[in-house]
Amino acid sequence: MTGDGSGGPTSALALDTSRMRRFEPGEEVDVVIVGTGAGGAPVLAELAAARLRVVALEAGPFFDPADHTPDETDAAEINWMSERLSGGDDPTAFGPNNSGRGVGGSTLHWGAFTPRPDAGQLRLRTETGEGRDWPFSLEELLPFLVRAERDLGVSGPADYPWDPARSYAYAPAGRNASAQHMADGCRVLGIRATDAPAAVLTRPREQHGIPRGACIACGTCHQGCRTGAKATMGTTYLPAAIAAGAEIRAEAMVHTVETDAAGRVSAVVYRQAGRDLRQPCRALVLAGGGVETPRLLLANDLGNANGQVGRNFLAHPATQVWGTFDAQQRAYRGYPSSLITEDFLRPPGADFAGGYLIQSLGVMPLTFATSLVRGGGLWGAELMAALEGARYTTGLGINGECLPQRDNALVLSGEVDEHGIPRAEVSFTAGANEKALMRHATDVMVRILEAAGATSTRVLDRTAHTLGTCRMSDDPQDGVVDASGRSHEVENLWIVDNSTFPSALAANPALTQVALALRSSQHLLAGH
Ligand SMILES: Cc1cc2nc3c(=O)[nH]c(=O)nc-3n(C[C@H](O)[C@H](O)[C@H](O)COP(=O)(O)OP(=O)(O)OC[C@H]3O[C@@H](n4cnc5c(N)ncnc54)[C@H](O)[C@@H]3O)c2cc1C
Ligand code: SF4
Repeated sequence: MTGDGSGGPTSALALDTSRMRRFEPGEEVDVVIVGTGAGGAPVLAELAAARLRVVALEAGPFFDPADHTPDETDAAEINWMSERLSGGDDPTAFGPNNSGRGVGGSTLHWGAFTPRPDAGQLRLRTETGEGRDWPFSLEELLPFLVRAERDLGVSGPADYPWDPARSYAYAPAGRNASAQHMADGCRVLGIRATDAPAAVLTRPREQHGIPRGACIACGTCHQGCRTGAKATMGTTYLPAAIAAGAEIRAEAMVHTVETDAAGRVSAVVYRQAGRDLRQPCRALVLAGGGVETPRLLLANDLGNANGQVGRNFLAHPATQVWGTFDAQQRAYRGYPSSLITEDFLRPPGADFAGGYLIQSLGVMPLTFATSLVRGGGLWGAELMAALEGARYTTGLGINGECLPQRDNALVLSGEVDEHGIPRAEVSFTAGANEKALMRHATDVMVRILEAAGATSTRVLDRTAHTLGTCRMSDDPQDGVVDASGRSHEVENLWIVDNSTFPSALAANPALTQVALALRSSQHLLAGH
């Protein structure tokens, strides 16, 4: 069974490309979209539904969900593994930690944990004097968040303590061992915690002809979901896009953006099967993610007269604390992110701006070993002992605000990749605010695990996600795109991916990204 987009045999969960529209080579289309992840896929579906002629160019291949494997080494095929240079005092980890490559983008391997941002997170500067506000309010984003939840199929509790108006269409996923301990510890300490919102089906649903199953609690979401329970772009927006007349070209790495005499985008050039092919277009949407989009813009010297492309790289503080218990826990079983607390979005008396949320964790052995080395500094006999004891541990992790700093930036390195394009070089140093936030969160997580009965705890420092390198701004000098996602400098260029986040938010980014994509689509259609 293959999912290669050739129209050959595939499983029922794979995208059916046998009747996909295919534009003539060289034929001008209305819009080209670069990337098919959480930003690109919804735009592709929305524009196709509005009868625009749209083509998505995706660097990675088609994957058939039936071919995903829990083996972490083989599963790396769904990650962006081409080297990126990482520097600064707190270099961010790439590879499986950071972005996907394939039709569906990072949603192939995401954890599907889908908290919504609250109003305060979009008004960080107004509320704290630090960072940036988003150029629109939660009120404006909310309908798109609700629609995104409906399209993805989000499960969650009947009563959400921090937002009584909210409801979820699916009952929550089962709690894993980490979630049970988190619930116990929070109860003892008087912290509110509840089943987490997750784009994970808890009853089957047929979606655009794809029979998505219910979660079977296998715990291998980050290696790709084999039941279709976890929403990916390949089981939601992309089949809708194909049905509405969009074309997806896989293994098509865009490296050049051409402009006309007026400075408007006129075509892109991509490498596919060793050949350079040109695709003329009337408008271009970049949705390659927080690293590849600024890299492409810098390589083409596009949209960057104000020097903002690549600046203000944001990475969420994602510190983990693991507690050891007397009995075996085997926390790799079950849907990992099954419990949440939002009690620390604005902790009273905190010595930092912003806040964080806490979620339960569950990781596979290689990922855990990597975190022990990178985040815990373990090696040799100590590392082997920690791995031996891993089945007795349960873990908690945060997603925290990160303030923009101009010098946390992505630039082009002197090295080139396999396509001859300069590699991205990303520099990240946590500021005093992030460090204070991580100290606060570590203390809270240690206390929760101890209250649940942990006999010892271990802290693993890490960051997650790649945001902010082409931020949205009302002031054309302060960012790369406007509030709708349109370039301040190039009239028919749009960016719809994590690079546009002006502040990191404490909410994990993908649900907001899908909502942003739906919102940008409306603007794009209105101005086309
Ligand atoms: C391990 C992990 C777990 C995560 N878990 C969660 C979670 O539980 N909840 C949550 O909210 N978020 C999570 N995320 C983050 C989430 O996946 C991202 O926020 C989201 O997918 C980003 O969307 P995007 O459109 O910016 O980029 P992506 O989804 O990464 O899509 C970008 C796409 O563009 C393609 N591309 C890039 N450059 C080019 C080019 N030049 N030519 C052609 N194609 C190109 C890439 O191959 C890729 O397919 C997780 C991320 C990781 C790494
Ligand atoms: S735990 Fe559930 S959502 Fe995750 S991979 Fe397994 S079946 Fe899919």
